Amino acid sequence: MSKTLLVRLAAISIASLGAWVAYTQNPQAPPQLKLNKIADDLYEIEGDGGNVAVYLTNEGTIVIDDKFERDYADIMAKVKSITDKPVKYVLNTHQHGDHTGGNAKMLDASAEIIAHKNARANMVEGKMPGVPRISFNDETEVFLGGKEVRAHHFGRGHTNGDAVIYFPGARAIHTGDLYTVGQSSAPVTVAPFIDYSANGSAVEWTKTLDGILNSGWDFDTVIPGHGPIMHKADLVKYRADFAKMQTRVRGLVRGGQSKEEITKVLVAEFGWSPNPQALGSRAIEPMIAEFKK
Ligand SMILES: [Zn+2]
Repeated sequence: MSKTLLVRLAAISIASLGAWVAYTQNPQAPPQLKLNKIADDLYEIEGDGGNVAVYLTNEGTIVIDDKFERDYADIMAKVKSITDKPVKYVLNTHQHGDHTGGNAKMLDASAEIIAHKNARANMVEGKMPGVPRISFNDETEVFLGGKEVRAHHFGRGHTNGDAVIYFPGARAIHTGDLYTVGQSSAPVTVAPFIDYSANGSAVEWTKTLDGILNSGWDFDTVIPGHGPIMHKADLVKYRADFAKMQTRVRGLVRGGQSKEEITKVLVAEFGWSPNPQALGSRAIEPMIAEFKK
């Protein structure tokens, strides 16, 4: 699958998160974004693309992810409504276009973009605009206005370059798409997008979540990559549910079940999209290969 197609598909994956109609019918007009207050100095911007976190300091603002390019003006308007300080840093949780689309405009506005080295490499390979000038291996920190923001790569999951962002002062994290919250009528909802073209891994995913939960980071608020603001207990439950899905799929794969039968189980029991065009379903074949090992 080409990277361009993948970027487009990443956008389409929003379908499962509720923006499908708006996106397909009128791609030029972004849906209205919504600003949510988490703490006096921490806000979240939801709607269209991945969740954005905005952290305020008296020396400037630190932004996590920047949705699609078309959302840039609205993101900046929201930031300006809560601070007169400029955006100094943008941390990307991973390379997908619904999280990095505003990068080029942020760079033009003199913000520094930071991402994990694999996420940066994925952007270069995909010829994506707004490639970060700064990358890191396992962990990096940004210190601004007496506050700290930490970015840590706990391992593979959604991609091979996922970074989780920690705001110690606000006891909050932004997980990127290692944790997304959607609506589904399945008994348990674990419908991750495993980007195998960027070396994501369903097998490693729980180990990566364990890394977050055992990091020693003191947090309660969890900003997922998509969906409403959650809490640590929700992330703990998601990790347990993800493990259930791993066990179920591994059993089916080793029992010799077909791709169609495994898909049926994922749709009925774990809320995967039944649409074969959706990324979740496209990930079935490499996922089966991964669980065979
Ligand atoms: Zn993503």
